[in-house]
Amino acid sequence: MITKENEGITYLDPDMKEKEYPQHTLNGKTCFDAESCFLLNRKQNLHKDEKIDDTLLSYLNTCKREIIMEIPLRKDDGTLLPVKAYRVQHNNARGPFKGGIRYHQAVDLAEVRKMANLMTWKTALVDIPFGGAKGGVAVNPKELSVHEIRRLTKALVAHLGNNIGPHIDIPAPDVNTNPQIMAWIFDEYSKGHLESSPLAVVTGKPVELNGCQGRLEATGRGVAIMLRELAKLKNLDLSELKVAIQGFGNVGYYAAKIISEELGAKVVGVSNAVGAIYNADGIDVEAAKAYEHEHKDYFIGFPGAEELENRDDLLVCDCDVLIPAALANAITADVAKQTNAKIIIEAANGPTTPEANAILYDKGVFIIPSILANAGGVIVSYFEWTQNLQQYYWEYERIISELDKRMVKAFWDVVDVMEEHSIEARQAAYFIALEKVAAAALLRGF
Ligand code: NAD
Repeated sequence: MITKENEGITYLDPDMKEKEYPQHTLNGKTCFDAESCFLLNRKQNLHKDEKIDDTLLSYLNTCKREIIMEIPLRKDDGTLLPVKAYRVQHNNARGPFKGGIRYHQAVDLAEVRKMANLMTWKTALVDIPFGGAKGGVAVNPKELSVHEIRRLTKALVAHLGNNIGPHIDIPAPDVNTNPQIMAWIFDEYSKGHLESSPLAVVTGKPVELNGCQGRLEATGRGVAIMLRELAKLKNLDLSELKVAIQGFGNVGYYAAKIISEELGAKVVGVSNAVGAIYNADGIDVEAAKAYEHEHKDYFIGFPGAEELENRDDLLVCDCDVLIPAALANAITADVAKQTNAKIIIEAANGPTTPEANAILYDKGVFIIPSILANAGGVIVSYFEWTQNLQQYYWEYERIISELDKRMVKAFWDVVDVMEEHSIEARQAAYFIALEKVAAAALLRGF
């Protein structure tokens, strides 16, 4: 196991001149991630506190600790499979590190760093007392048996040792991980940690194991709340909106369900890793989910919609709202040029490439950035953590209502800053988050 302290992603260059802004930031008019948003904030003199200087920004944009593991997985057939795994802890100025664990064959250190960085700004933006972290295991879980996934998960926890804990770093579900996997994480951790609250080491657990009601739907519900609030801001009639959703897993499915059932908007297209379907009159989300489940992820033959020739055609289908809810970098420059969506809600983490971001900015597309759009999951994870620590459990209605309140507040906080400084939503979201993290870091004497 290698632990690296204070080594991480790129540093800001204090000598960077305006003319040197990368082309895809449109010469400093827009931004696409923490670093480019910080540059833009500084250029526009948005930060009143002089202590928020380039050195502090560079520190805050750097991962604090990176753990790289090689986990030996004994397969059911007796062979040995070495599996690479990562846990990157980006920042804990405002509280314990917090972030999901992803099981995916394409996971690498660079991706986990980016995702850990996003978590710090997300938890700050929605004002929950956590920092940011992310975990990734470079494996395709679809090629493993359930026993192999259990052994791998428990070995991961053993390798992480005291680097996770209820007041240190608290994992949660992400792509291809679910409540069952969170239950195994809790179980393995609890064996070596008999303190009073080992349950709070991980969130997203099954409700039967002191998980939180509403956690499963929380991220998708947060995405739907964003659409509802944006409709209020822009005076849009929800029943007139055509919504397309890339990714039909935890986040995409619940977003689709709540958007169609509770907001009354039309979900016209959905896709998964295997295929995509479209119906301009709207898709019955429950029927599509049941069909997908029954046909092992294939939509072929689904009676309620036509199957698109290409899975990625979904990204450029006729719609008003496009919701990427799968993996990073789905919205490429080509997609940005072709889409006729006026609104993009980034349910996935980092789904828009820098080049696409600049094109969408030029086209006047309203983007709700991932640190805001998908914060519902970590908000309800926070509720789960507090309930586990207090051993006092809330009812579903209270959880949903508190989630709603926090998402609404974060949305309108971003709108206020957008309007005050005439900046786009992403820059405003990073501006708010950075001020909070910087204040905590400075007060702590970093
Ligand atoms: P998931 O594993 O439950 O679902 C992922 C979905 O994306 C699946 O339907 C899969 O088939 C589909 N998919 C994969 N590649 C695709 C492609 N190229 N085209 C179309 N579909 C594709 O994962 P999830 O938990 O729903 O996470 C989705 C995204 O949301 C990720 O970016 C994740 O980081 C982010 N996110 C998740 C949570 C959470 O609470 N689960 C919280 C915040 C952010």
